[in-house]
Amino acid sequence: MPELPEVETVVRDLRPLLTGRVITAVRRSAFKLRRTWNPAWAAELAGTRVEAVRRRGKWILVDLEWKADLPPSPLPKGKGRKGNLPPNPLPEGKGRKGNLPPGPLPEGKGSSGVMARELDSRIGSNAALLPLPSGRGLGGGSAFLPSGRGPGGGSSPLLRVHLGMTGQFTVVPADTPEPDHLHAVFTLDNGHELRFRDQRRFGSAEFFADRAAVESEMNAELGPEPFGIDADYFRAAVGGTGRNLKAVLLDQTVVAGVGNIYADEACFRAKLHPGRPANTLTAAECDALREAVEAVLTRAVESRGSTIRDYVGGSGLRGGFQNEFAVYGRTGESCPTCAAAVVCARYAGRASHFCPRCQDAEGRAPAAGKKKRTTRGT
Ligand SMILES: [Zn+2]
Repeated sequence: MPELPEVETVVRDLRPLLTGRVITAVRRSAFKLRRTWNPAWAAELAGTRVEAVRRRGKWILVDLEWKADLPPSPLPKGKGRKGNLPPNPLPEGKGRKGNLPPGPLPEGKGSSGVMARELDSRIGSNAALLPLPSGRGLGGGSAFLPSGRGPGGGSSPLLRVHLGMTGQFTVVPADTPEPDHLHAVFTLDNGHELRFRDQRRFGSAEFFADRAAVESEMNAELGPEPFGIDADYFRAAVGGTGRNLKAVLLDQTVVAGVGNIYADEACFRAKLHPGRPANTLTAAECDALREAVEAVLTRAVESRGSTIRDYVGGSGLRGGFQNEFAVYGRTGESCPTCAAAVVCARYAGRASHFCPRCQDAEGRAPAAGKKKRTTRGT
């Protein structure tokens, strides 16, 4: 499952490929994603321009700018763009059958992810596929409304993406053959496409007309980013709960973006047992854990994240941090520090990997919950 370093890598890859680009059309597959896609979003997205690409926790945030005039004025005949952007016509006989309701098609057939190209086209399809008037889009800054100055004085729009378990969010030339499990395609104004592929479909793509509102909601649910966390904040958050360290690190309201892999690696680096009750940590141990979280995540970002199964960055490249795991996924193998065999046990409902010698749970307050005791090596 992509965690912070993987999402950050995707964001860094996508940033130069997307910033300044105009989304000219959107297509969705028939398959349902983790969060519902509103078919009306395709028309709203068409014509917006990418202002920035960011990350918050494990979310990818694509900041958009509205077109200055909504809806787009129809193009005079024969004055289209220079023919470099075919409006993705539906292949003959490959459309939806009849007048299906906007909901997703029944699943279970065609799991190879055949793209139903015009899915969201019933609402505003023509607007969505209209070529932009000449002089717009490509570098035409005045054609777009600055941030926070949307129609009616509202906020600016946002495309929010979560990679779920197997999501891939990449930019490729539009003539790149479509892979299976492709669920959303955002056509760009430069002959490329932003593609969302997700085999297991725990991921999602959502459009928000009011960026500020959704960010405010997210900030209410997410703790601070794990870089440069305030030491006092972290000590208070950790010291205020009897849950074990694994549970605390996985809690996105404490620190945003940490998942199973990096929680295990951070505990190892801090020499702290993942099953240790958080409120038994000394201030120094709290500080060590905070620094370990930041160090592990920083190093993983430098390595473009970890590719366990399907993860690739925004340019399609795999990560490299999986080659540097000290404990994660290394049950029975040697601890890189002391050569003891790495152990796997369940904490916070998740498989947790640790060195029973370096990450000693003994001699502290009694461990909470049902976990097995670990034995001290010699
Ligand atoms: Zn060890």
